[in-house]
Amino acid sequence: MGVLCACAAPAPTARTRAPASLQALHDSVAHVPMLADVALTVPTAGVADVTEAKPPPPPRSPFAFSNIDPADDYVVGPPDDRPTCEDDLNAAKIKHDPATLPVHTPKKSVIVCGAPQVVMYRGGPEKIAYSPAVMITCTMALALARFEILVQEEAVKSFGKRVVKMHHLGTYNCREMAAYPGWVSQHSYANAIDIADFVLADGKTISVEKFFAPKLAVAKTVEGGFLRTLARRAYVEEVFSSVLTPFFDAHHYNHFHLDLARFLSDGTEYSP
Ligand SMILES: [Zn+2]
Repeated sequence: MGVLCACAAPAPTARTRAPASLQALHDSVAHVPMLADVALTVPTAGVADVTEAKPPPPPRSPFAFSNIDPADDYVVGPPDDRPTCEDDLNAAKIKHDPATLPVHTPKKSVIVCGAPQVVMYRGGPEKIAYSPAVMITCTMALALARFEILVQEEAVKSFGKRVVKMHHLGTYNCREMAAYPGWVSQHSYANAIDIADFVLADGKTISVEKFFAPKLAVAKTVEGGFLRTLARRAYVEEVFSSVLTPFFDAHHYNHFHLDLARFLSDGTEYSP
């Protein structure tokens, strides 16, 4: 085991930061004026035209989004409380039960584990079953619900069928990162999930291990294309802060690691 360091998050590199265009997109979404503001500054005759030309952006709530703020990249610890958690879960149509995962430091460890706000995720808006059941932070539950929408869009595009079940390898595990000893894994806070496969309505299983084929620059199967497009969208569309696939390293040969860390990690692109 390496030397523990719970005081600093891994330094994001140029490779792991979101593209500048994403930052610009985020800024523009955050600062688009509300219709009321537009009406104050635009002549009455022009309001209809302005409204048509610039429809209000889709709301960023109730779902959660990746953390693209570089100012808190080095903050290590459980995710912040979300005061609107319960209302957001209900608005996002997430079936859930209360759960607790006390924040604590295990004996002979300096890692802080647990989170102040976790739930048992029983199912999201796209009716996908999870095996086993999912205990996860409130914000990850909201992100997972949004991920389900992407999953169904890509499944219907690729296979003409919906996904009915996802198998995962775990959410909570009080530990350092597998590849980077000394850095705290988001699994320590139940702020991550490792998804191994997707089961279609006809019973076909799209497994990351079987179909991702990370040695190929271009996917040669529909299944591989589905997995790669899904992972890429999950990162680029700011569903999760970290999306690690078999492209990232050998630890991820059989699953997608998805989390809401305070820093970004893009493991969705082929590199020879
Ligand atoms: Zn993981």
